[in-house]
Formats: sequence, C-alpha cells, structure tokens
Amino acid sequence: MVTATFRFYEELNDFIARPLRRRSFSCACARGATAKHMIEAIGVPHTEVELILVNGESVGFEHPLADGDRVAVYPKFEAFDIQPLLRVRERPLRVMRFVADAHLGGLAQLLRLAGFDTLYDNHYPDEDIEAIASRDHRVVLTRDRELLKRRTITHGCYVRALKPKIQLREIFDRLDLAGSAQPFRLCLACNAPLRRIAKEDVAGHVPEGVLERHARFVTCDVCRRVFWEGTHWQRMRALMDSLAGERDGATGTSPAGVENPT
Ligand SMILES: [Zn+2]
Repeated sequence: MVTATFRFYEELNDFIARPLRRRSFSCACARGATAKHMIEAIGVPHTEVELILVNGESVGFEHPLADGDRVAVYPKFEAFDIQPLLRVRERPLRVMRFVADAHLGGLAQLLRLAGFDTLYDNHYPDEDIEAIASRDHRVVLTRDRELLKRRTITHGCYVRALKPKIQLREIFDRLDLAGSAQPFRLCLACNAPLRRIAKEDVAGHVPEGVLERHARFVTCDVCRRVFWEGTHWQRMRALMDSLAGERDGATGTSPAGVENPT
C-alpha cells in the first residue's frame, strides 16, 4: 500500500464526499495505482479534470503514485493561464460535436438549434454512447458521472443544471461556444444539415401567411420539413446574442427588433 495526499479544487469538490471537500486528505492507494485511477476512485470523472500536479509537477493520467505524493487536481481554468503546464489531454477537439445521454433531449435540441452537431436518442445504452463518442470524437454530455468514468471517453461534460436553457448556458460557458454558434443550420429533429430552398418550391408546404411574411426558407433532406425564421429561431438568436454579450462583458440586452425570449 502507498498513501498519497489529495486536494481537489473548485467545482471538482462537488463530486467528492462532503468531509473531503476543499481540504487536503490522505488516501491509501493500491500499489501501482495511477493518478487517474485514484481520482476516479475518490469520485471525480476524469473528463472533468484539466490539470494534475504531483508534488508540484504536472503529470498525465497514467502517472503512477508513490508513497507520500501530494496530488493537486484542477478543473478547467477560467481566469488562470496554465499553457506552460501539461494538460491531461493532448489536444482539445477542433470541431465541437456532441452525444447527449437519454436525459438531455431538451439540451440536445437547443444545441442543434444553435448549429452544433448533437446525436441524441432516448434509447442509447451507455455502451453505444461510449462507442459513438470514440468513433466520431464527440463530447459526451451527461448527468451520470459513472458514464464519464468509462475508459475510452476522453472528452465529456458533467451537466450540473436541470433545465435545458440553463444547461445550454452552462455548456456554452464551459466550452466557450458562443463564438462558433451558427443558428438555423441543423434540423432540430434529425440533426441533419438544412439547405436553402426557393420560395416558389415551398408553396403548398407552409401556411399562406408564412409565405407572405418570410423570404428565406430551408429544408431538411431527411424529414423533408421546411423551416423559416419564425419565433422559435428568433428566440434562439436572442438567446445566442445574450450568451455572446455576457462573454464580451456587455449588459445582455437584446438587439432592437428581436423580442426577448419568455
Ligand atoms: Zn429533419
């Protein structure tokens, strides 16, 4: 047996037993146990960890722990530049794509509305989510921390909020998505790309009034539905703008001509 001292920082404390939060504690580790193994045994999914320091030196997940080691574990930093230090993942994903677990259908739709490729099916078993994530390099979104402990899941987000709009805000903040949102790009139902369709081709497929009021239409080649920038999309744009505004330190007021989402 070896004994190491652990200290978890910031929101990583949410995952660990109350008496161990925000302080150093010692923990017995099996001989040969790695940093990742112990961090997960204590309760923190590895996907939530951005930096591990052992005796002040940054190490990777597979670092074996030795007797007397002091282990400090950090989540993604917001205000503190850790570039010179080794991060536990080799590189961030270049294109943000997601797979959402069965309980996050509302969030999945909002992400599609914002233009982010998001796979979701309320019958996906955990094995499928793991397989899809590693096959397509998708970020796993879940409220199940055990799912995030699976070995081949390298990028994941534990979603704390319960309501879809607040969940979207949480994911936008954590992954800094506001700048890459492209509303009106993906079908909400199918996650398939939308393409422009001429106004004359939608006659008969949309209500008369809509045809009079709107000039721009898109369609999904999978479900063949036709969409226009109605209130649903306007609300989404307002929500996107408010998220982008907050990031830039603006006051978060909606642009003129767009109603506030209610
Ligand atoms: Zn569709």
